[in-house]
Amino acid sequence: MSARLHNWIGGRASPASDDRTFNNPNPATGVRIAEVARSGASDVDAAAAAAVGAAASWGRTSVAERADLLDAVADAIEARLDELAALESADTGKPVWLARAVDIPRAVANFRFFAGAIRHDETGFHPMADAINYTLRKPIGVVGLITPWNLPLYLMSWKAAPALAMGNAVVAKASELTPMSAGAMAELLTQAGLPDGVFNLVHGYGPEAGQAILEHPDIKAISFTGGTATGRIVAATAAPMFKKVSLELGGKNATVVFADADFDAAVDGVVRAGFSNQGQICLCGSRLLIERSIYDRFVAAVAERVKALKVGDPGDPDVNMGSLVSLAHREKVEGYLKLARQEGGTVIGGGRPALPMPHDVGAFLRPALITGLAPTCRTATEEIFGPVVTAHPFDTEAEALQIANGVRYGLSSSVWTSDLKRAHRFAAEVEVGIVWVNTWLKRDLRTPFGGVKASGVGREGGRWSLDFFSETRNVCIQL
Ligand code: NDP
Repeated sequence: MSARLHNWIGGRASPASDDRTFNNPNPATGVRIAEVARSGASDVDAAAAAAVGAAASWGRTSVAERADLLDAVADAIEARLDELAALESADTGKPVWLARAVDIPRAVANFRFFAGAIRHDETGFHPMADAINYTLRKPIGVVGLITPWNLPLYLMSWKAAPALAMGNAVVAKASELTPMSAGAMAELLTQAGLPDGVFNLVHGYGPEAGQAILEHPDIKAISFTGGTATGRIVAATAAPMFKKVSLELGGKNATVVFADADFDAAVDGVVRAGFSNQGQICLCGSRLLIERSIYDRFVAAVAERVKALKVGDPGDPDVNMGSLVSLAHREKVEGYLKLARQEGGTVIGGGRPALPMPHDVGAFLRPALITGLAPTCRTATEEIFGPVVTAHPFDTEAEALQIANGVRYGLSSSVWTSDLKRAHRFAAEVEVGIVWVNTWLKRDLRTPFGGVKASGVGREGGRWSLDFFSETRNVCIQL
């Protein structure tokens, strides 16, 4: 028997106003996890009304009160680590061990981090000869949070924690594919003592519930993480309403390996960057650029590792990869493998694994490494968002940079070299928001996060999140 997942509005569970639902299956088994509220504009109206009603008094609470509450939420999530990891795995198809090691601990860290961030926050003071200026940070009021399916609780908490910390009320929507952990988080927030109406969650489809959030006049800011095409809709809808917008969008990130890199460490890094979370992380290194003198040896070493990756039952602690998020997404990724062959590439791996029941019907796909493609072809320039990496040789640093910058995206890049000067040069020239040198996905929550070009607008993380989720006001006093 599967559960019903209702919206969370005004501190309690409520079905969609017309009681419509949609089916949310486990992508690894096809088994239904829940019937989920399919909300529309009237449900978003109700959520926004609850948020408006709660925003003023929440905005006047003390920093200490809000920080203590975020810490209590972190404790509550941590206490349910196993349960939430199992839920996240069932919803996304990712290995349970991964959700236990990364997704849920990161959600805990997000709440703890932003509790600390507001406790230690400082604002500006600008003295003049005959006057003083000081900066106030005011809550925006009601903010909208829209998140994707790849890291559901991780990304929802990444937005919810700073939004609440800065005294805002929230109307949020998780991806229709992965709404479960956001539902659990909403309940935990209320149990931890968050006043009713401060955090509201509306489930449903993007063009229905999501679009209604974008269009709602009482929702004054939108923090969106998702695909670039949807980001364009968010920007176009929000701009005429003068909403504040943060867009964290797609990527086609280059991992660049120079011949002087620590070979084994680079192979490890490339495999991790390419295939973690089934390749479904916006920061995944899906384009592998290798200096020609080590190209053959390096590709052979990566290919061997890719073939050895174990794909299967997400509950098995020995699997490296679980299923993709849906059968439809697997078809999309497989379409790119077909395209890669048409474009003249050689695909290593990439088939559907033969798995026993109940995983025989799941959205599993073996990881794929593709060689022999021009770095300008569609497979090597369009975001696939799956376990697919294309490998390309380069001869000079300038050529590596030109290939790295030769896509419309600009989220992150990971550079492997033992030449520190080269690392600094490359980091200064590559057109992205995040550069890693001899590592990948190392995150300090104080640092700015975001992309350039078609990868987004604005930064979140640390003080950038505090800035986004507040309005700064200068006060000038004549002495
Ligand atoms: P989508 O853009 O399809 O969806 C993201 C969210 O937007 C979902 O909640 C979706 O709802 C919602 N949505 C869809 N249409 C609308 C609309 N018209 N108005 C408002 N909301 C809407 O992305 P995916 O969920 O497929 O996620 C994958 C993408 O996210 C990839 O491109 C990936 O690179 C990017 N991403 C970026 C990150 C970053 O930090 N830069 C991090 C993680 C992922 P629904 O699912 O119900 O349609």
